[in-house]
Amino acid sequence: MLTNGGPLMQRFEVALADHLGVPHVSTVANATLGLVLALQQHGVQCHEVITTPFSFIATGHSVLWAGATPVFADIERHTLGLDPEAVERAITPRTKAILAVHCYGFACDVVGLGQVAERHGLPLVYDAAHAFGVRIAGQSVLDHGHTSVLSFHATKVFNTFEGGAVVSRSSAAKLEMDRLINYGIVDDMHVESLGMNAKASEFTAALGLVQLEHVGEYLERRRQVDGRYRDLLDGIPGLVCLAPPAGQGHNYYNFPILVDPRFGLSRDQLFAELRARGVHARRYFYPLIGHFPMYRQFSSADPARTPVAAEIAERVLCLPMFPDLEEQEQIGIADTIRAAFARAAP
Ligand SMILES: *Cc1c(COP(=O)(O)O)cnc(C)c1O
Repeated sequence: MLTNGGPLMQRFEVALADHLGVPHVSTVANATLGLVLALQQHGVQCHEVITTPFSFIATGHSVLWAGATPVFADIERHTLGLDPEAVERAITPRTKAILAVHCYGFACDVVGLGQVAERHGLPLVYDAAHAFGVRIAGQSVLDHGHTSVLSFHATKVFNTFEGGAVVSRSSAAKLEMDRLINYGIVDDMHVESLGMNAKASEFTAALGLVQLEHVGEYLERRRQVDGRYRDLLDGIPGLVCLAPPAGQGHNYYNFPILVDPRFGLSRDQLFAELRARGVHARRYFYPLIGHFPMYRQFSSADPARTPVAAEIAERVLCLPMFPDLEEQEQIGIADTIRAAFARAAP
């Protein structure tokens, strides 16, 4: 068995469920396909999906591929996730689902969004590509909403080079998802849904099982990198190191900073300065999803409609963050930032 739920994949799904503390996990070829299928499972075709413009392009694309219209709502400053009140204002009779994103490993307001979804009888899907291992109030963040989708892409906290997983709320929902991942096939004679081939192979499962043994150690090293940045960058005027809301676990996926006018340089100027010195920080997420041509036709893509997202996208910069980042390199990055500040200061 090389694919189609072979022995390694069965072991990997159980090990993942156990590690994450959630019961129903389906592995998938990548998170983008997982998101498309999750939206399809919730019947969004020809309807509206309320989502955030402050995410990676895959979030928006999954809505379009699922045959729905994205409606962008604004985010909250402290979670950077969808603002429950903005979501509620965006609901129309055509709304069929809410697609929220846990950015950088910071959880959305899962309680607020859960209440809005429940009040309006809408499925709540989380793009949890950044949220591997994140816990909130002693519970996996993946336990919130109707479906959560993880990415195991090479750049994520836990990776199988390419890959992902869909977390479902019930064994029936998982079975339905497993079928969607495999062309919608029920058995030889029955195909019940317009599924696709979104399967991950035994090779992915083998890699995933090995990676699971190391993920705790990677997380600890990320935690150290995060702590060193906070010490090194402390006290620079106009530069804010973002952190998850109080009382929430963190997986240290990114190290986002916000640049404000007191810094003296714009975010783009600091970005260019770092680039010139070989430091590959990322403007992540920038531009907003609505900026790209396939979204401009939607009125909610106008950045003026989502002012918080528009402002954060102009000010945010993610510094290099990976388990092997060494203290000396971090000191060099911090020195570069301080020197840029010193030169810009009047
Ligand atoms: C990486 C990422 C995705 C896409 O994941 P793939 O596994 O590469 O398809 C989707 N959403 C967000 C927020 C991401 O960061």
